[in-house]
Amino acid sequence: MSGHVIYACPCLNIKIHLSTKYSLSKHATERQRFWFQQDNPPIQGHRLELAMGGIIIAYNSLIQVKTNDTWTTVGCLHCDTKEVYSMLQAGHSVTPRQSEQWVVLHDRAVFGHDIEEIHKDDAYSEIFDVKLDGHLKALVSLSDTKIPKELEAQHKQLQHVLDSALDKMHLASQVRIEQWRRVELERLEEQSQRAREETTPRRPLH
Ligand SMILES: [Zn+2]
Repeated sequence: MSGHVIYACPCLNIKIHLSTKYSLSKHATERQRFWFQQDNPPIQGHRLELAMGGIIIAYNSLIQVKTNDTWTTVGCLHCDTKEVYSMLQAGHSVTPRQSEQWVVLHDRAVFGHDIEEIHKDDAYSEIFDVKLDGHLKALVSLSDTKIPKELEAQHKQLQHVLDSALDKMHLASQVRIEQWRRVELERLEEQSQRAREETTPRRPLH
């Protein structure tokens, strides 16, 4: 891993790349200087500057966005983290305005060693680049349970989120398979081309 600091939600669906002015090796102490706290609305965490295009969300349908007049807070439905980062409200966008390239990272956002540990976890999927267990499994098992009337609407909504997430994952894997197939085909094509060139007798020069 390079020396620059990346934060993420505990399933890695939301990743936040910080400006290169922070250093990963010193970050745990370095960030203390950037503690930010306010009461109305209550926002607290480390206020840190972003790298260009620093916010990367793998599955947009799995995030939760809370917005008021001044702030937007983004959370992750997949790992059930209500607050990953907050930023000054920028319309419906989940990335800050060009002139405000910073976010407040809340305490459940992890970085450095914690991210490496998630990569090593059995539930981490390299294909989807997220940790697949937890909330998603809980949602799946919900479908076998009898749902009380008053929770039916919520359940439908959750089911919808789950279904669209699964669709997206399915699509992502299809795309990867297709890419792999194309690369393989090209390789084969190249090989047979080379074989043809080698077996075709060269025409005499005269
Ligand atoms: Zn997450």
